Amino acid sequence: MTIPTEIQQRYTRQMILPQLGQDGQQALLDAEVLIIGLGGLGSPAAMYLAAAGIGGLTIVDFDRVDISNLHRQILYDDHDLGQKKTTAAANKLRQINPKLRIKTIDRKLSATEISTQTELADIVLDCSDNFKTRYQVNQACVAQRTPLISGAAIRLEAQIAVFNNTANSPCYACLYRDATDESLRCSEVGVIGPLVGIIGSMQALEAIKLLTDIGEPLDGRLLTLDAELLEWRKLKLTKDPECPVCAV
Ligand SMILES: [Zn+2]
Repeated sequence: MTIPTEIQQRYTRQMILPQLGQDGQQALLDAEVLIIGLGGLGSPAAMYLAAAGIGGLTIVDFDRVDISNLHRQILYDDHDLGQKKTTAAANKLRQINPKLRIKTIDRKLSATEISTQTELADIVLDCSDNFKTRYQVNQACVAQRTPLISGAAIRLEAQIAVFNNTANSPCYACLYRDATDESLRCSEVGVIGPLVGIIGSMQALEAIKLLTDIGEPLDGRLLTLDAELLEWRKLKLTKDPECPVCAV
């Protein structure tokens, strides 16, 4: 199938890459991505995926834009204060790419609803800020064998991991078991803006790589960043044979 000229022009600088090409662009145009959380990570992730020509984005956040969000949540500006994040984000994303199909969900999802939305997605980006949601998203992705790209940032530390959720690969619960959010909320301990920008952008990059089959995704590995020293570390994750989620 030939991609129309207007679309070719829009994406020429990425389509020119031999690794991506016309087939890669078509794969992006056909893709459905679910983004859980539209804060510091979800902002750049959604913006880059919209700009790259992802066909459909489902964006989930129950919150409203607060002035304390603006130093890092670059989807929003002063005009959006008090608005639902999903509404403000959808407006901004449509400006970036009018052809994007956007579905907004502006409430806390139950585990069942997360499962239903995961079923409709090719890839899930976990950009949430709490372990309860992360565990629910992981559970849904493992059950449906949907790739999960997980990001987190707090203080001056951040991490990203990709879980392909094939039969023998580790899952998020193999990495973290029974974690709680005590003293780990950025409202209490803080976070620096560009750090979530780096990780959110990398989540978009890994999504594009997975969808277009470019290179080697970060599958089964955890990449951590110490922003104070600007030191990256890559750790190989192993499947936990006792994992309550994936070891069945
Ligand atoms: Zn597991």
